[in-house]
Amino acid sequence: MTALTLTNVNKSFGAVHVLKDISLTVEDGEFVVFVGPSGCGKSTLLRVIAGLEDATSGEIRIAGEQVNLTPPSKRGIAMVFQSYALYPHLSVRKNMSLALRQEGQPKDVIEQRVANAARMLNLDPYLDRYPSELSGGQRQRVAIGRAIVREPKIFLFDEPLSNLDAALRMNTRIEIANLHRQLSASMIYVTHDQTEAMTLADKIVVLRDGRVEQIGSPMELYNNPANQFVAGFLGSPS
Ligand code: ADP
Ligand code: MG
Repeated sequence: MTALTLTNVNKSFGAVHVLKDISLTVEDGEFVVFVGPSGCGKSTLLRVIAGLEDATSGEIRIAGEQVNLTPPSKRGIAMVFQSYALYPHLSVRKNMSLALRQEGQPKDVIEQRVANAARMLNLDPYLDRYPSELSGGQRQRVAIGRAIVREPKIFLFDEPLSNLDAALRMNTRIEIANLHRQLSASMIYVTHDQTEAMTLADKIVVLRDGRVEQIGSPMELYNNPANQFVAGFLGSPS
């Protein structure tokens, strides 16, 4: 099954045309990486998929259903942002359960889901701490935990490692790959880092100036880049 289909999606802010005729698909369970230089529209594209911004034109389908007018909380999507945006006055446990409490989930369901996510992310010892008492890597794991407890069909990650140092980036990248194996969800992962793209992706979407330049597996793009831009971006020899 196809989890997500975008057909000729455009997004303008006033006179600024940011996303230009974006068409792509994400299959169930697929790990798709969006790469492209800063300012090419990656975050805007995620926000349009999540419903945090409306598309100016084009169609968005999730599991076959048109969702252009569906509010973010009803799309079965959870987003992990670049800045973790944890609530400083809430414990890790409360940060992770907040969305579920707002949804009105029963207490036992909330406890179960937080416990599962904490186990997956090795956060058990930190559930009663506050964000200021955590390292950067632990905070990012809490941010991921907040997404997991919602049991989304599609995870969106917006440059989740960009605030971490090199060693932590590698660890967290491996953790995200492990999570993808454990959860039966599709993941869309935005980065401007070639190594992240090549190591994580089933499929890479190369974006440039709001357009799709090429879509393919890491090896396809590496061996057969459509143009100099893709070749240069992925470090392939041609
Ligand atoms: P990326 O995530 O690839 O760095 P963004 O999606 O953040 O790129 O931004 C793409 C372009 O859209 C930029 O030129 C940015 O200035 C513009 N943009 C993003 N959000 C808005 C907004 N709310 N209003 C006006 N312009 C915006
Ligand atoms: Mg961005």
